[in-house]
Amino acid sequence: MICQAQKTVALTGAGISVESGIPDFRSAGGLWERFDPMEYGTIDAFRADPEKVWMMLREMSEVISSARPNPAHKGLARLQKMGLLHSIITQNIDNLHQEAGATSIIEYHGNCGTLSCLSCNRQYRADELNGELPPRCACDRILKPDVIFFGEDIPTQPVRESHELASSCQVLLVVGTSATVSPANSIPQIARMARAKIIEINIEPTVLTTHITDIFLKGKASEVVTGLVDEVERV
Ligand code: NAD
Repeated sequence: MICQAQKTVALTGAGISVESGIPDFRSAGGLWERFDPMEYGTIDAFRADPEKVWMMLREMSEVISSARPNPAHKGLARLQKMGLLHSIITQNIDNLHQEAGATSIIEYHGNCGTLSCLSCNRQYRADELNGELPPRCACDRILKPDVIFFGEDIPTQPVRESHELASSCQVLLVVGTSATVSPANSIPQIARMARAKIIEINIEPTVLTTHITDIFLKGKASEVVTGLVDEVERV
């Protein structure tokens, strides 16, 4: 299917980065057991008590900054270099697709490389801040990383671009997402309605597997993506 498709698009979620050491929302014993995403990851929580939310953000930044791309990120970048993967829509904020050498990436939930002030709208690059945590704006308000918190709207551009890609691809490769976070979870449905084939890679079935997915490849993203790309390379 991938070899024959004119346009293949990948949709990735937290599961693709688990083997890089970044826990997904289900991983046992990780960050999210101590910081409930529904308590620390909402925009209302940030507005009410940014210092409390920064306790979680501080740990999350440490985990993300020490993570490196794994064979699944590298495999998708390889597929792209072979001309067989048009774009990657990622729900992740960890920059690992870019570090693996992939291009044409839509960061549906933003990126932690920049931060903004919710009061005066000034924006800062993470590397231009002085390392003080929580980081503050010149106006003294605590800054928020430019990632989408629960309860925030997704900016129009990634939504529009993802919609266009999903409705124009012939194959959608869905890797490591539970497809439970809205509106990103509409992307496989949009692709399906446009008659794309859906190939899903996950360690366990998801809400997509029975009704949306055409081919379910069960296993760890690093192993399955590598095997898939090796196979495609041989064709
Ligand atoms: P999720 O935590 O809801 O689901 C992760 C999925 O990945 C699950 O279906 C799980 O079975 C699967 N999975 C776990 N390990 C895997 C592996 N090794 N190989 C293949 N699949 C594996 O994640 P989601 O659907 O992406 O939604 C969570 C939201 O949280 C997203 O919006 C995402 O932005 C955010 N998030 C991002 C990161 C990150 O940037 N790395 C980490 C945690 C959460």
